[in-house]
Amino acid sequence: GWDFKGLLKRNWLLIATIVSVLLGIGLGVVVREYASLSHLHKQYFGFPGEILMRMLKLVILPLIISSMITGVAALDSEVSGKIGLRAVVYYFSTTIIAVILGIVLVMTIKPGVSQEAEHIDRTGTTPNVTTVDTLLDLVRNMFPENLLQACFQQVTVINITKDYKIVGSYSDGINVLGLIVFCVAFGLVIGKMGERGRILLEFFDALNEATMRLVQIIMCYMPVGILFLIAAKIIEVEDWEIFRKMGLYMVTVLSGLAIHSTICLPLIYFAIVRKNPYTFTLGMAQALVTALMISSSSATLPVTFRCAEENLRIDKRITRFVLPVGATINMDGTALYEAVAAIFIAQLNDYSLDVGQIVTISITATVASIGAAGVPNAGLVTMVIVLTAVGLPANDVTLIVAVDWLLDRFRTMINVLGDAYGAGIVQKLSRRELERMDITSDVDVTNPF
Ligand code: ASP
Repeated sequence: GWDFKGLLKRNWLLIATIVSVLLGIGLGVVVREYASLSHLHKQYFGFPGEILMRMLKLVILPLIISSMITGVAALDSEVSGKIGLRAVVYYFSTTIIAVILGIVLVMTIKPGVSQEAEHIDRTGTTPNVTTVDTLLDLVRNMFPENLLQACFQQVTVINITKDYKIVGSYSDGINVLGLIVFCVAFGLVIGKMGERGRILLEFFDALNEATMRLVQIIMCYMPVGILFLIAAKIIEVEDWEIFRKMGLYMVTVLSGLAIHSTICLPLIYFAIVRKNPYTFTLGMAQALVTALMISSSSATLPVTFRCAEENLRIDKRITRFVLPVGATINMDGTALYEAVAAIFIAQLNDYSLDVGQIVTISITATVASIGAAGVPNAGLVTMVIVLTAVGLPANDVTLIVAVDWLLDRFRTMINVLGDAYGAGIVQKLSRRELERMDITSDVDVTNPF
């Protein structure tokens, strides 16, 4: 029969998180209805959620440093090269699949055709972003000139005001890409140092274990934080009418994300790994709910790690190497969304796209998703490069700002799921190298603590 108690015991955190999402939505609706809170009080309401975000962001730094360095140092450089190549091929091909899926859907459903752009308020200004600048910034960020500075580097984050104005980017977060590049190099060097390198490897391995224990503690606070995070959001949103106006557009994006995550990714996983992909998705549930609630792949990373290592038992040499990179550059949800949004805006403007322009959209949407940092609304900023590439007014990003907070959550969830599937698939493809290393190597960083 059903082991109900055991099920509860094993999944209490997930259950508590889901219950708190529902409670938070309920609380938000009730407070909206019956209390008129001042702006300040609304902010107080979100406070416990703000603390959760701060705690999750806090552990990103030691987590990325320790996992990347040990992940790379534990492999020999030839093996890490192969694993890296496999990961990049996976990232690239799934992103392209997501983009094509988005294009097919938006050209079939045509959410922008029955509507005119004038019917949606166009307010605010748009940040200046070009394709070249985005690419140069990407490369520039890979080489931070100051390691400490990289820990609190400028990340393009936008702030959306209550009346949907996009106000300039501000500095927030970590230059994840720069840290990753440095840690890969550092890890490779440590791996080659032999006995002398051992002490550093053990240091970073212990740092990783300690950080993951901290993550475990933070996760106990998660249900509380999430309850207030979602409640505060529901209290804060003023314009629900926009959801009716933009309904078809949202349906297009959401169904694309749904198809990609329940059909495309599982099919690829099954074709390669030959295991049930839905069990895999279920194992990631905690990370998926987290991503949905906080709309940031980077801040979800600690939870992604825990799910991948504890529930799915993916080899730590793979997760440590592949997950931080994936959270930064592999964004299937964002890529799909960028393509849909760009064509939606073209439809609104009665602007017909030729085949060349559609190809341009697929390429720039891919670049835009790689260039977007794993922080809330980042995809909206890099959206500008897709629009300008095909001659659409960059300012039209403001047409879709109002609903972005909701779509952002869903695309972030798919971004995280794609990273996890990537780890599972790369592990399967690399099993031979890993087994060979198990025999020859005596440094054991794979042991679950
Ligand atoms: N919020 C997304 C993420 O963190 C990026 C985006 O805005 O599309 O993955």
